[in-house]
Amino acid sequence: MSSYDFDLFVIGAGSGGVRASRMAAAMGAKVAVAEERHLGGTCVNIGCVPKKLMVYASHFAEEFEDAAGFGWTVGPRNFDWSTLIANKNCEITRLNGIYERLLTDAGVEIVEGRAVLEGPHSVVVAGRRITAKYILIATGGLPVRPTEPGQELGIVSDDVFFLEKQPERLLVAGGGYIAVEFAGVFAGLGSKVTQLYRGDLFLRGFDDDLRKALAAEMPKKHVDLRFKTIIEWTVKTSNGLLAELSGGQTLEVDQILYAIGRRPNTAALGLEAAGVAVDGKGGIVVDAHFRTSVPSIYALGDVTNRVQLTPVALAEGMAVAKTLFGGQPTSVDYADIPTAVFSQPPIGTVGLSEAVARKLYGAVDIYRSSFRPMKHTLSGRDETTMMKLVVERQTQRVVGAHMLGPDAAEIVQGLGIALKAGATKQVFDATIGIHPTAAEEFVTMRERLPDPEEAKAAE
Ligand code: FAD
Ligand code: NDP
Repeated sequence: MSSYDFDLFVIGAGSGGVRASRMAAAMGAKVAVAEERHLGGTCVNIGCVPKKLMVYASHFAEEFEDAAGFGWTVGPRNFDWSTLIANKNCEITRLNGIYERLLTDAGVEIVEGRAVLEGPHSVVVAGRRITAKYILIATGGLPVRPTEPGQELGIVSDDVFFLEKQPERLLVAGGGYIAVEFAGVFAGLGSKVTQLYRGDLFLRGFDDDLRKALAAEMPKKHVDLRFKTIIEWTVKTSNGLLAELSGGQTLEVDQILYAIGRRPNTAALGLEAAGVAVDGKGGIVVDAHFRTSVPSIYALGDVTNRVQLTPVALAEGMAVAKTLFGGQPTSVDYADIPTAVFSQPPIGTVGLSEAVARKLYGAVDIYRSSFRPMKHTLSGRDETTMMKLVVERQTQRVVGAHMLGPDAAEIVQGLGIALKAGATKQVFDATIGIHPTAAEEFVTMRERLPDPEEAKAAE
């Protein structure tokens, strides 16, 4: 008989914490999970799910416009922000209930409140001391706030889902996933959006052709993109917020959304008391099996500050459960993780960018295609889809697949399987397309782009 209250105590009922709790309980462990806010964590409450609902909402404006070319007359249109937020809140409450049932049906005890570590086997939640053989830290991340004067007048992504009023004029600071997604959402909903990025081109780390293609598309959808620009300071005015930008221009808006990254949520968690080591950026350091510097304490998901994606946290949760209670030490393979940016148009991408592949393999073959989606031949919309394959020349293995265009996320999920299976360009070529689709382009691209090195040598 164990001398601990639980076999596993999980701190945080987000994507990773819930998965680890349920799986560990299913494997016979006695499990409890502490949650200080809402079951489901960031993804369900203030992340992926409400964000995607808002992306859907924002698409209707274009759909109504595009319908005309197909013979439809669409009557007067009006968007009501409070209806969207109320319906979104209803759906999130439904999901919170599902998470509660999933946990309780699995036999997991839910402990409401903030958990703080006391030692290698003990935590305190709302004055209750609880011991466990293993503790799993799955506390996620928090938005970073900038430091410039007046930054407190702006909001972060946590707030954007609960705004009482849709800002008529929105300034978005940042050039990562969250900034481009919300710039697209609010522009689609009719706000006047300006997006600032501090560098030459946003979405650092993504394939350069994707970055350039999205930068060319967003202004067509009325996002005023300004690169090499930051906010110097902000003050309140009688009409809203006045921001001075680098270069001296000023901009008056109703709201400023800072989307400049997220940091691990570890403050006042008792890490020092328990002896859990963190890295230079505050991420909890773990080994290949998610064990921290304290042998009985594990950590996963955003708090480890590595790949901040829900499916990754889920895979890590599964791995922790198998390692601790399945008799199967399990790690996660981080290669070829497909990901999407729900920008407008969206990005779907898996594997290596051209730049990284060239560094890694030297010679690569590039196949790229840009075209107007079939739908827009009648709608008249000026929008370009871009698809690209990066192929390691020597083995002909496809090491990167990238798309900007409608349904990119849905299409690239399937390509993720092909890359994981090590498919070569010949396998792509031997695959019959589905016609008429955009996706078929991925199996019909035959002309490789001129190699920059060969072109230089030929000069
Ligand atoms: P979280 O889901 O953040 O869960 C942590 C939980 O721990 C929270 O519920 C928190 O309240 C709780 N907690 C923290 N400290 C304590 C404590 N001391 N005691 C008790 N409870 C505590 N990923 C995708 O894959 N696709 C997307 O489309 C996507 N969109 C996103 C959009 C936004 C705006 C944001 C912010 C993120 C998005 N992400 C997306 C990322 C995704 O949400 C995260 O990677 C994922 O939620 C991480 O899961 P986690 O389990 O590590 O932490
Ligand atoms: P990201 O790390 O993706 O991007 C942060 C952006 O802010 C970068 O453009 C960065 O620029 C810029 N930045 C950083 N510091 C400053 C500063 N002080 N001033 C101005 N700009 C700054 O973070 P996000 O907040 O967008 O998202 C966090 C993570 O959440 C993502 O990385 C992703 O893993 C996850 N997520 C996933 C989504 C999805 O799957 N669709 C959607 C939303 C979030 P630079 O590049 O120059 O450093």
